[in-house]
Amino acid sequence: MQGLKEVILQKIKDYDTIICLRHISPDGDAYGSAFGLAQFIKDNFPPKKVLVDGEPNKYLSFLATPDLVKQEDYQGALVIVTDTANMERIDSKYWQEAKEIIKIDHHPNVTPYGDLQWIDESKIAASEMIADLVLTSKLEVSSTTARLIFTGIVTDSNRFMYNKTCGETFILAGQLVAKGFDLQSIYQNLYEESWANVCFKNYLLSQVIVYNEQISYVKITDEMLKEHQMDYETVKPWVNIMSNIKEFKIWMLLIENKAEGYINISIRSNTYIVNGVAEKYHGGGHQLASGAKIYQWEDTEKVLTDLSLLIKNNVKYMGG
Ligand code: AMP
Repeated sequence: MQGLKEVILQKIKDYDTIICLRHISPDGDAYGSAFGLAQFIKDNFPPKKVLVDGEPNKYLSFLATPDLVKQEDYQGALVIVTDTANMERIDSKYWQEAKEIIKIDHHPNVTPYGDLQWIDESKIAASEMIADLVLTSKLEVSSTTARLIFTGIVTDSNRFMYNKTCGETFILAGQLVAKGFDLQSIYQNLYEESWANVCFKNYLLSQVIVYNEQISYVKITDEMLKEHQMDYETVKPWVNIMSNIKEFKIWMLLIENKAEGYINISIRSNTYIVNGVAEKYHGGGHQLASGAKIYQWEDTEKVLTDLSLLIKNNVKYMGG
């Protein structure tokens, strides 16, 4: 019997048009997995039409730029969605018009979709799954492909730090590095910040609110963003300004997304399983790193109450 990886490779061989997709508000893993897979297909099957759809992200533009994908491109195409747990978060208007849809993801499969699914929650990144797919395929893995996928692993594992990082992650990462790309420039692009951003982070630290001694959070209103000439996409990944603070067991960043009419919440912990609470508030994600949405600031209190129950009831992460 063919394994899932072989089936996916066969599907790739079968289709003339392949569109790689990932989630809205993309992170390094979303970009790395989608663009890395697309590059791999382009390198090995030059006659195929290979596209990556979705809104561009200026902070990830050092990796790649999405294509201008038209609705008609989806007709008869194979769509491969990576790193995207639920269909509402797929960054494409027309993905359902494709002939066949494959989901490749490392999040809990709360909302299954697609004709074929390869889900592996044990993986630190969707890019780790793509690394496994391409490196065991006996096909060419170019340095460009390797760089994209490596960046996905590096970002989602928080530089090989988070718990699901394991020996296999390093073996795959090592094989990618051996393909030859400028490692230092990746880190430089990930760490470099403007002075204005650093100053705003400093301001945000002054706005931290502590709830029940062990939960910290910052509320960022649209007004605050405007006043400091900051935008939602820039600030969204900054939940970790509150990480590694001994007293805070759970921390979250709430940002008003006025254009879309919701308040995004990023929830993090090193100790407590937070994705159940995220799911209750229109979200989901990993046990220690989740996202949710509320529609009025008053609901912050409800989320805080639910999070403090996790601490009270000792809903602890046991690793794995
Ligand atoms: P973020 O806080 O946006 O970095 O997200 C942390 C994790 O939770 C990521 O794996 C996201 O894919 C997931 N996540 C964030 N927001 C949502 C949402 N509204 N629904 C489901 N999963 C989400």
